[in-house]
Amino acid sequence: MKLYYMPLGAYGTNCYIAHNEADNTCLVTDPGDEGEKLKDILDSHDFKVQGILLTHGHSDHIGAVKTLVDAYHVPVYIHEGDAECLTNPEVNLSAHSGRYITAEVNDVRYVKEGDTIFLGDTTFTVIETPGHTPGGVCYYTEGTLLAGDTLFQGSVGRTDFPNGNFEQLSKGIKEKLYTLPDDTKVYPGHGGQTTIGDEKQYNPFVR
Ligand SMILES: [Zn+2]
Ligand SMILES: [Zn+2]
Repeated sequence: MKLYYMPLGAYGTNCYIAHNEADNTCLVTDPGDEGEKLKDILDSHDFKVQGILLTHGHSDHIGAVKTLVDAYHVPVYIHEGDAECLTNPEVNLSAHSGRYITAEVNDVRYVKEGDTIFLGDTTFTVIETPGHTPGGVCYYTEGTLLAGDTLFQGSVGRTDFPNGNFEQLSKGIKEKLYTLPDDTKVYPGHGGQTTIGDEKQYNPFVR
């Protein structure tokens, strides 16, 4: 499995493409914006999209979901706690910027702790990490964590939105993420990459 990423949209939300070189299939995580551009890139490499993984439902992570689903007819994976984000611009926060983003799609599959999603030989396991949003999750595969807006390089996700909860976020990071191997590469929803070991040692918000 190879991981590609590109920041999309005004918030530079990292979209991650997990690619299985054996058969050119891929999973797209958090396609946040610029759907046509993203689709052109996927098509230009003839990547066969198998599904869309969402770490949470904020609008800057779901803005290109509809474009991709219309093009590839694939399932969308999200935790039920954030399901309303797909249809409600108030809840996904886009109403505040006047963009009213939704991702109204038919094939939504709710994920919960321990669920697995496959891409070729690679297994992604769902880790529930609520706090930034009620339905926030990370996706883990050996050596790699797609962390969404839960854990950043030197920071953590905001918890001052409605339904945010710092205690909950902090607990999830300490008990679930910081117990992963130190050399696990962390790929956050915004900004640069880091490792579990570095965050355990240097993150000023959760140690
Ligand atoms: Zn967010
Ligand atoms: Zn975000």
